[in-house]
Amino acid sequence: MRIGRTLPPAATPIDVGAIASGLCGLFRGQQELDRFELELKEYFGVRHCFLVSSGKAALTLILHALKELSPDRDEVLLPAFTCFSVPSSVVRAGLRIRLCDQQPDNFDFAFAQLNALFGTPPAQAVVNGASHRPVQADEAAAGSRKALKRILAVVPTHLFGYPADVAKLRELIRDPGVAFVEDAAQAMGETRAERKVGTLGDVSFFSLARGKAFSVVEGGVILTDRNDLAEALNRLTDKLPRYGLLPRLKLIFMATALMLLMHPWLFWIPRSIPFLRLGETLFETDFPILKLSSFQAGLTRNWQQKLEKLREIRKRKVNRWIDILEAGGNDGSDLAGSRSLGLLRLPLRVSDEKKRAALLRESARMGLGIMPVYPTSIDAIPELRGMIKGGQFPVAESYARELVTLPTHGYLTENDVTKLSRLISRVLG
Ligand SMILES: *Cc1c(COP(=O)(O)O)cnc(C)c1O
Repeated sequence: MRIGRTLPPAATPIDVGAIASGLCGLFRGQQELDRFELELKEYFGVRHCFLVSSGKAALTLILHALKELSPDRDEVLLPAFTCFSVPSSVVRAGLRIRLCDQQPDNFDFAFAQLNALFGTPPAQAVVNGASHRPVQADEAAAGSRKALKRILAVVPTHLFGYPADVAKLRELIRDPGVAFVEDAAQAMGETRAERKVGTLGDVSFFSLARGKAFSVVEGGVILTDRNDLAEALNRLTDKLPRYGLLPRLKLIFMATALMLLMHPWLFWIPRSIPFLRLGETLFETDFPILKLSSFQAGLTRNWQQKLEKLREIRKRKVNRWIDILEAGGNDGSDLAGSRSLGLLRLPLRVSDEKKRAALLRESARMGLGIMPVYPTSIDAIPELRGMIKGGQFPVAESYARELVTLPTHGYLTENDVTKLSRLISRVLG
């Protein structure tokens, strides 16, 4: 166990002022929630917004709503390397998981694999001379088309804050029965082609958990422009329970603890408490699905300015890391290619297993905040064995095996950067 200055791998500070506004929010009740909802609608330019207790609660409700609108469809297509909360939500919503592999140099879908799945619509097949193709191939294609009719939703995911190409996905999947659900949990405030992430699909969600782009201890936001979906979501969210007294006290306690303990001089404390399970990612389907509380809404006062400031800091650190990694000729930095993204953590590929283990061990010893990401791809989650559809996911598996992340938050000082880059060049060099 390390005692002393320890960098968290990701950090989204909550300050005293925010906690004061949170307590104010408690007294203002619904007004405070209405304010946050209105600000979100204005900022993103969307018609409908729903506030719930987490990102996974948000995704579960979205999937329930979609299922109500298309009862004959029951599959959700996910990237094979993503947060374990995502398949947890799919299972909680009573749906099936289909996976797609990802690209080796960003976390977007492997479009070739999707193309093989969704490509060759019937009309086009005839144009291309399908009559000369063997009958089995046609039957197989027809079979796969039938299988595709079960796909309810596809979840493009802006992992770490890299914006996924939702426009390309829409071009590729022309079935109007498939909904595009943006997982923008890690990407609040990011843009792609000058459009805000979270407004690119049919519906999207953000997470307001600790360590995300903006945090209120825990929380989830749903955005959509579709009236049919909003109606279904309205019905579903109306019925949701609120936080009880004890859970609200726990939120206040957690906000205060986060305010103090995220600081590098104190972070070693929560880090050394095993039951907090910091940094662990769990597959669990019995999470609460509640309305956001007015305390959490109160914590969001001035969120636009705060988010912008946090993103500016992260962008600067990301650019700093890219400069350093490029200068060092580090070949694991291909992921970092795009500058000026406010990534929550900077992913770095370390293919050599021994070097990666040494890097993680040394970082833990020195308190420098280098961390692995998700321990496996989604298909390897034991609870999901035998329940997954899709092919092979070699890239997703390599992400789980090889990635580590460097901190990009505001607690990272120039002195830390120097120590970290020395460590990286010593171990990987
Ligand atoms: C955090 C996260 C979620 C889930 O959000 P919670 O608020 O933690 O439930 C979903 N998807 C991704 C990519 C995430 O990082």
